[in-house]
Amino acid sequence: MEGRFNKKIISFVLLVVLLAELVVLGYFYYLFQKEVAQNAIALEAKISDLEDQNMFLADALYKEQQKNSEFASQIKQIAGTVGKLDILSKTDKELLQKYSKVYFLNENYIPEDLVNIPPDYVYEEGKKIKFHTKAFPYLQEMLVSAKRNGINLKIISGFRSFGEQGALKNAYLVTYGSGANQFSADQGFSEHQLGTTIDFTTPELGANFDNFKSSSAYDWLLSNAYKYGFVISYPEGNNYYQFEPWHWRFVGKGLAKRLYEDGEYFYDLDQRTIDSYLINIFN
Ligand SMILES: [Zn+2]
Repeated sequence: MEGRFNKKIISFVLLVVLLAELVVLGYFYYLFQKEVAQNAIALEAKISDLEDQNMFLADALYKEQQKNSEFASQIKQIAGTVGKLDILSKTDKELLQKYSKVYFLNENYIPEDLVNIPPDYVYEEGKKIKFHTKAFPYLQEMLVSAKRNGINLKIISGFRSFGEQGALKNAYLVTYGSGANQFSADQGFSEHQLGTTIDFTTPELGANFDNFKSSSAYDWLLSNAYKYGFVISYPEGNNYYQFEPWHWRFVGKGLAKRLYEDGEYFYDLDQRTIDSYLINIFN
């Protein structure tokens, strides 16, 4: 009898213990679920935080890229300017100088490089005439084009050194007296010392090139020389020197074209305007 009673008590105690365990487990489960939910909320908050940060970073990156491309274009501009300055520093600025009684070439001036003009183009057989190396291709292009148009241009004079110019002037003075001042520049301000200036004649006129004005060659030069960068220095009716229809100077295609289109002459422009064409003189 007592044994059965004990069994019942034991069963009851076990039941109580089991229930207690269930309650405890349930409580822990509740706590666990609560923690999970809280973690999920925190995680979501963190994710949205990160997204914000991400957007901020993307924005910052975009701004940085903008700055870089601005910087790159600035660098490009600076490089372009440096390139231009470099070309200018290497271009002989005398090539586009106006020479007058107050501004003249130094007696020691010599062109950077000279070539012999091919004998085919030279009037006097066997005479060596030199011309500026960089300007020569333009001269040649002009001579070839003239020939194609039935104009036979011959060169009677090209580069003349300071000494040669002085000797020539003296020879003229002996022959013509002070009248030589009208047609032969003094030493130091002859454009021939530049190496970019030539005197033309034709086979018919020869040394008698005073009559060049009435030749078809002169007419052809007036309407075409600018295409090759050549201009007449002392045109008819000018105020700075006697009219020299045979005397042509290379000033570059850009400036020559401008002068042709505007009906102006080299010596009419101010030096500042002329200088802006120096950078492209050989383009
Ligand atoms: Zn001349």
